[in-house]
Amino acid sequence: MVRTVLSARAAEAKASIDRVTDFLARVQALTDDPDSLDFTFGNPHELPLAGLSAAIRAQTEPTTVDWYAYKTSERSAQEAIAAGLEAELGLPFEPEDIAMTQGAFGAIQLAFALLTDAGDEVVIPVPGWFCYEPMLHAVNLTPVPAALNPHSFDLDLDAIEAAITPRTRLVIVNSPSNPTGRVFPKAAWDALAEVLEKASRAHGRRIWLLSDEPYRRIRFDGVEFASPAGSYPWTLIDYSYAKVLLAPGQRIGYLAISPLLPAQERAQLRAACMPLGLAIGWGFPDAVMQYAVPELENLSLDLAELTRKRDRMYSALVGAGFEVTRPEGTFYLWGRAPGGDGAAFCDALVERGVYLMPGTLFDQPEHFRISLTATMATIDRALPDILDLGPR
Ligand code: PMP
Repeated sequence: MVRTVLSARAAEAKASIDRVTDFLARVQALTDDPDSLDFTFGNPHELPLAGLSAAIRAQTEPTTVDWYAYKTSERSAQEAIAAGLEAELGLPFEPEDIAMTQGAFGAIQLAFALLTDAGDEVVIPVPGWFCYEPMLHAVNLTPVPAALNPHSFDLDLDAIEAAITPRTRLVIVNSPSNPTGRVFPKAAWDALAEVLEKASRAHGRRIWLLSDEPYRRIRFDGVEFASPAGSYPWTLIDYSYAKVLLAPGQRIGYLAISPLLPAQERAQLRAACMPLGLAIGWGFPDAVMQYAVPELENLSLDLAELTRKRDRMYSALVGAGFEVTRPEGTFYLWGRAPGGDGAAFCDALVERGVYLMPGTLFDQPEHFRISLTATMATIDRALPDILDLGPR
């Protein structure tokens, strides 16, 4: 046997994401077929928003010699974001609280660099996004799963409390939630804040919260959004424009420091964002995307159309007897496979050219996820096959 050349952390990171990259490779090959009906990843299935291409185009023509110079966090982007966050969350963000990053991925990586040491434990939600684990392994951190409520997929505070140990440094939460579409209310954050405050005191070490909010603006039926940054001062928010603009290939997002953080700690973090952005490998987004941010702040996918797609898929599945979680946000729909075998259900649909994401990718083998970034026409074409394999 050939010994691996990989570091232990690389091998662990790879092992924890292999099932996803294998799935991606398989699906990419299959969905090259134009007749395939693809509900897997949250990728765009239509041409980009006209406003997005216009906003980028408007910033590509240099007007100064440093247009394409090295860029850290552009002041105009920080200002637009702080103002937007203040309006959205009712918290007094200032431009210095914002660090520009390459999407939410970059912001999460920056949060790890700012707050954690090798060997620290980080509590993650299950089911939850499948990249927390590999990202943690890659920097010698230990993921500790905390299950959401298995029926409602609400936060389970007892599970979080039980997952916390003296080595816990960070708890990651995600609302609106991938893959379940749940949005958590302020009361849940207030209760979580109490748990974290108590545990921090008990262990003599501050436990931080990372609120992963890339779907924040994608919510249905006027469902209210609260960020835990308003309930627990030791919170960092990561955000990405990839979801709301349906353009995940254009890497732009940010990390935001809760303005409720005590002044000294807030100042330390503000001062550390730039050097750490550099230390993690120039983790700043490119110049053009940053210049476009004031425009991007006002753009969104067509939420009315997304709502129609959610309603169409949700009511058809419920009507056919499927157990599905009604999405309050995100562009995903989360359901339980008939008979409780998500992989078998997804495989049977592959035979009919319909591609869903099996719950095994989220450690939930009974479930499946549908990405509603597929078009309405794709939904209409796929539904007969999905329903045909439904509960009997
Ligand atoms: N967090 C969650 C919950 C996500 O679903 C994603 C993207 N799938 C990200 C973070 C990363 O977002 P981005 O690619 O925009 O950096």
